[in-house]
Amino acid sequence: MQALQLTGPQTLELREVPVPEIGPSDLLLRVAAAGICHSDLHVLHVPFRMREEPLTLGHEIAGTIEAVGSEVVGRRAGERGIVYLCWSCGICRECVSGNENVCMAAGRTAMPPCPGLGPDGGMAEYVRIPASSFVPIGDLDFLQAAPIADAGLSSFHAIAGAREQLRPGSTAVVIGIGGLGHVAVQILRATTAATVVAVDISEDKLALATDCGAHEGLLAGAGTAAAILDRTDGRGAAAVFDFVGADQTAKLAVESVAPNGAYRMIGLGGGAPEITAGPAGGPGWPWGATVRKSYGGTRSDLIDSIGLARTGRLRVEIERFDLADGREALDRLDRGLIRGRAVLVP
Ligand SMILES: [Zn+2]
Ligand SMILES: [Zn+2]
Repeated sequence: MQALQLTGPQTLELREVPVPEIGPSDLLLRVAAAGICHSDLHVLHVPFRMREEPLTLGHEIAGTIEAVGSEVVGRRAGERGIVYLCWSCGICRECVSGNENVCMAAGRTAMPPCPGLGPDGGMAEYVRIPASSFVPIGDLDFLQAAPIADAGLSSFHAIAGAREQLRPGSTAVVIGIGGLGHVAVQILRATTAATVVAVDISEDKLALATDCGAHEGLLAGAGTAAAILDRTDGRGAAAVFDFVGADQTAKLAVESVAPNGAYRMIGLGGGAPEITAGPAGGPGWPWGATVRKSYGGTRSDLIDSIGLARTGRLRVEIERFDLADGREALDRLDRGLIRGRAVLVP
């Protein structure tokens, strides 16, 4: 089969490789669509080899079950689904509480194994997955379904964790209208009564946010925090969802979040928000506000995201590429030229 593989730092190759063998508790999935995520770019730019053998990228996977492991119960060939990307232990304290996205088996700050970022992923004709990671999608279109596995899941999880703050009359700020941000705008509109303000450095991305239901778009710049305070009677945003995670966006969040508000860091830009302990009237961070570094989501977040997509409340903006053109698609993403999500079709 063909697979898009990382063979060294900055080196992506379409290679002919054997179809994966599956173990007794695995499924073999025939891939129908695989989304491209910004974290694939991070992996591509890691300056050392991630592992000895080439790594097939791809953690937003949709497809059809081709073969079922001998000990798997309740699954059959031909079922359509997507892959839950947290391949967690399933038995630690966090997993049994439903928080499989922060499974403790990997360690305190690591993440659970994820296809395409450790085990081989879905930018290939076939992929081996643990049967427990398969989530049915009914008749949802594969190209729509694939990005739900991360763009949908991670956005939904960040928003679900701030739902207490997002009361009617509140304001939610979404920074970065890329693959996740444009999905987050729709999830906010579908699941909360908050006013949604989009922030981006590109007018085109703000136009996409408006198409997705944002009430207002702000071009990122020196006056953005002041503009958010101005629109919220000086109180600030009840929740700020940062899909960039750079120093500038962290600064914006610190300067614009409300007292008792929620700052959620989802983007992996390495930004460090400056949060200082200090008396009332001190600089920056307001009383009661929380910050959460948000990774992936729970299984129920994923199922709810699929529910939004299947009922037409969430529609991912797609740019379709053949698997062979994956390198070009990643280059376009790197240059900020993808509208919504790039999806590869093997
Ligand atoms: Zn991702
Ligand atoms: Zn666990």
